[in-house]
Amino acid sequence: MEFRSVIKNAVFYDPFNNFQKTQRPTDIRVDPLTGRSSRIIYFPITLPPPADQSRLAEVTKQFCPFCRPAVFEKTPRFPEEIIKEGRLTRGSAVVFPNAFPYDAHSAVAAVTEGHYVKMDAFDVRELEDGLLAGCEYLRRVNALYPQCVHLSINMNYMPTAGGSILHPHMQLIAGDLPTNYQREHAGLFLEYRKAHGTDYFSDLIDQEERRGQRFIARTKNIVWLCSFAPLGIAEFLAIFEDATPIIQTDESVIQDFSLGMATVLRYLASMNFASFNMALFSAPTDSRAFPTHARIVPRTLLPPVGASDVNYLEMLHHEVLTIIKPEESAKGAATLFKGVFGG
Ligand SMILES: [Zn+2]
Repeated sequence: MEFRSVIKNAVFYDPFNNFQKTQRPTDIRVDPLTGRSSRIIYFPITLPPPADQSRLAEVTKQFCPFCRPAVFEKTPRFPEEIIKEGRLTRGSAVVFPNAFPYDAHSAVAAVTEGHYVKMDAFDVRELEDGLLAGCEYLRRVNALYPQCVHLSINMNYMPTAGGSILHPHMQLIAGDLPTNYQREHAGLFLEYRKAHGTDYFSDLIDQEERRGQRFIARTKNIVWLCSFAPLGIAEFLAIFEDATPIIQTDESVIQDFSLGMATVLRYLASMNFASFNMALFSAPTDSRAFPTHARIVPRTLLPPVGASDVNYLEMLHHEVLTIIKPEESAKGAATLFKGVFGG
């Protein structure tokens, strides 16, 4: 497994430094599985503390369809043949059809009872309820439509990450057609196993544990890492070690993941992030073909003008830019994980 990094230096006379001749590096890193590169650039900014959203929360709460009791009155209901109860509930979570679906089986889980939850204040129990209710939905859809093998639980938290409703919610998809990520990775996981006789994630864990630079923690069931070539400004990868599909797994595994996820979110909040995307991927049965794993990427607007963190390079070249070294994120998160999980 190769962790390839190429440093490219740009040389210029620097107006910020008396026009001294300056050399500035770009670290171009190639993902060991996909061969896709990400660039870590020099851009010395500090994120300011996030804007206070409590006013927006107050306003949007008035007409929020995910708050109780509106969630039981204003959200769509499933046809009886899919979910006979109309909606699925579990603790704080309510699952209902996505009124603006992304696929034939596309649902939303309103996760929390509270309308506005700050990123460092997620109740682990509420995350668990959302994820377990999501798993239950995917399990039922897969039982009825076994061809829907591409399962995912996803999250756009806050408008900066594409969330159009403030109330924390997850999006569930069970499709017979894979997304680009699912198709490419299914092929790459298979190719890797054919070429090496081992599973990619097992080898990645071995490598990262030995190197120690991007390894965050091994909790009961999950290994947490920062990716060498991140898919966003920072990227946290959770690999489910026994790789059991999420629709078959023990609840304790989802509980373990929820605690790890809440810990990552607390770490990101400490870095002044206030928004993130999450995707938890799984196959229904053959976890070797598509091992269960999740990725969490913070989102932000860049000062001073609030520029998007996605520009032409990612949008059109499919090349992620970041200003944060994965090794630094891993180190910071590892301290927090130690406090939460011990070890
Ligand atoms: Zn709400």
